[in-house]
Amino acid sequence: AVGLVWLRRDLRAQDHPALHQALRQCAQVHCVFVFDSDILDALPRADRRVEFIHAAVLELDEQLRALSGHAAGGLIVRHGSARTEIPVLAQALGAEAVFTHHDDEPQALARDAEVRTALTLQRRAMHTFQDHSIFERQELLTQGGTPYTVFTPYKNAWLRRVEAARLAEQAVPPYAQALAPRPAPYDQPIPSLAELGFAPAGLAQLRLPTGSRGAQQLLDDFLLRIDHYATARDFPAIKGPSYLSTHLRFGTISIRQLARTAHALVAQGHAGAASWLNELIWRDFYFQILANFPHVVQRSFKPAYDAIQWESGELAEAHFAAWCQGRTGYPLVDAAMQQLNQTGYMHNRLRMVVASFLTKDLGLDWRWGERYFAEKLNDFDLAANNGGWQWASSSGCDAQPYFRIFNPVSQSQKFDPDGKFIRRYLPQLAALPTAALHAPWLARPLDLQAAGVVLGQTYPLPLVQHDAARLRTLERYAVVKAPS
Ligand code: FAD
Repeated sequence: AVGLVWLRRDLRAQDHPALHQALRQCAQVHCVFVFDSDILDALPRADRRVEFIHAAVLELDEQLRALSGHAAGGLIVRHGSARTEIPVLAQALGAEAVFTHHDDEPQALARDAEVRTALTLQRRAMHTFQDHSIFERQELLTQGGTPYTVFTPYKNAWLRRVEAARLAEQAVPPYAQALAPRPAPYDQPIPSLAELGFAPAGLAQLRLPTGSRGAQQLLDDFLLRIDHYATARDFPAIKGPSYLSTHLRFGTISIRQLARTAHALVAQGHAGAASWLNELIWRDFYFQILANFPHVVQRSFKPAYDAIQWESGELAEAHFAAWCQGRTGYPLVDAAMQQLNQTGYMHNRLRMVVASFLTKDLGLDWRWGERYFAEKLNDFDLAANNGGWQWASSSGCDAQPYFRIFNPVSQSQKFDPDGKFIRRYLPQLAALPTAALHAPWLARPLDLQAAGVVLGQTYPLPLVQHDAARLRTLERYAVVKAPS
């Protein structure tokens, strides 16, 4: 039999369940990646994620050639709508089945349903496998048989149920046996970024190595620091976290490998590893929230929060633009937005701070911020991004209570005490004494003058006063207390 493995957000050759199953079941296996115009056409013409995927595809092609043992044994790469490309290719190759992984994002579900229908009409099968999370959809349920909506019991169930087999690598039989050469019409060079209609987006300037090799490098580096993760992870000026999120997003590393490594270290008593595993479990948690409660894509997880009246009109739009561009007058918020705009990454603590600032200081709809993050984050993932935004706006499952409102100045004093992060991204403030850096409008005029800072000119005055904004937010959120 001939099998076609359709790679999407799983751009690696190792520990790949769909590839593993295809190699076990089929005498001849082809692998395809589609640069999907349904997704790409909506993106700006320079996008780091497209560049990241392109680099991963080049590496994967090289790896598949090496594994297959023949020069024509690489990845088939198409550019077009996957809805039509996959059935057309399956027919051309005479594939009896397409092998791919579950993807629970609503647009992916719709795409996959369409492809499955087209394949069924051609009397071909579509086999899908779990890959993106350790537990998914409805594997972990409460005693009442419903999905978990609170993290801690979910995490406890996750830890109770996880066993070696679930974390084990999906070993493949010798690839060379089945990985087939690409038939002549498909034995083509991979299109360049320019041929795909994209300009380089500066990925090379970031410290984000690409492909499976890049992911392994980041993991090796992180494992040297993992013991400090629990204490270092909240300080954006410190190299605390793993920086693996973009690799997890595109599957250049397998979540099983990471969870297996963390789980083994936890068993040896590493506190840092336990804290990191906790974050990997949050990732699973939000995947199953999206799959089981897809209304979160448009609406609040908790319906009462849909009654909140967000600010609107010209002033709201001007505030939103200032937030996006890092001109709020609150240095930690602005430095964080610069990090996002310049690199496509933002530290987790700062994602919480800027999301709280947007919703609870500026009174703007969390969906505005969610959309901006979706456009800018290299690691943008619908489930985690939506979960993070709904956590910060308090509308989500197991969210921050609405009356818990981050103070952007004390967050700055606590998590960037030396102002190192702020100075890195806001050089116009760098010469201020550290105490003044967290709230420049309170600085002594002499200090401002000596540092060359003119508020309202070289750096903005605060858009809103936090204390007054806090009171407005408590009033705004009063609607959620309406009798249920
Ligand atoms: P590490 O600290 O090394 O964590 C390891 C991995 O665990 C991450 O790569 C990620 O896959 C997962 N993880 C960590 N924290 C979370 C979390 N809170 N929720 C879900 N998974 C988590 N993460 C994304 O991957 N994509 C997003 O689009 C995204 N949007 C967010 C939006 C907001 C408002 C907030 C508050 C958080 C968001 N996160 C998102 C979660 C988190 O901020 C990032 O995963 C993390 O900063 C990535 O850096 P890292 O890989 O160095 O993390």
